[in-house]
Amino acid sequence: MDDPDAAAQPRPCVRCAEPCVLWVVGRCADCMADLYFHHPEEYRVFKDDVRREYGTKATS
Ligand SMILES: [Zn+2]
Repeated sequence: MDDPDAAAQPRPCVRCAEPCVLWVVGRCADCMADLYFHHPEEYRVFKDDVRREYGTKATS
């Protein structure tokens, strides 16, 4: 694990409400894939949330 904040603990997804271990700024892995493939506008919002959450650390 290279991310110390990534606790392996299920949390409900803010989008589909499914408990999920793989969870990034509120969205589960399924939703991330759904956003990427089917909702490009929403995916852009998600990416902005990621940038806000992790700041410039994520770009290095
Ligand atoms: Zn979800």
